[in-house]
Amino acid sequence: MQIRTGIGVDVHRLAPGRPMTVAGLLFVDEPSGPEGHSDGDVVAHAACDALLSAAGLGDLGSNYGTSDPRWSGAPGVDFLTETAQRVRAAGYEIGSVAVQLVGNRPKLGPRRQEAEQVLGEAVGAPVSVAGTTTDGLGLTGRGEGVAAIATAVVHRA
Ligand SMILES: [Zn+2]
Repeated sequence: MQIRTGIGVDVHRLAPGRPMTVAGLLFVDEPSGPEGHSDGDVVAHAACDALLSAAGLGDLGSNYGTSDPRWSGAPGVDFLTETAQRVRAAGYEIGSVAVQLVGNRPKLGPRRQEAEQVLGEAVGAPVSVAGTTTDGLGLTGRGEGVAAIATAVVHRA
């Protein structure tokens, strides 16, 4: 069985008044949210990049160009559903995906299982979600942005 791993990283700037959509969930009490061509869901985007990387299909930018109006404002979970389909169409089964959110906000811990459920349904395979901070350092520590890092495992169907 040919097993392949992939890696993905995503970062978005936080802007006041934008909805905080992370890991497929809306955090209604947050005063700011990610800026981006889509909803800026860093967890979903990092997971997409990890899956594309594992299947040797490039990255988010090469698959969903920012000039394509179809994906303008699209929820991260929609990218994830479509990406999982493209990975399977390329002849791979998805083993699992792991994502770590890097930042002070939103607090993902209390909603971790909910996030894993939503993302797992989009991918059609187990997705584990975790969070960490950077001890107040850097763009995520200062609250200027949110970041996520992900890995994925796929194998030949
Ligand atoms: Zn992104």
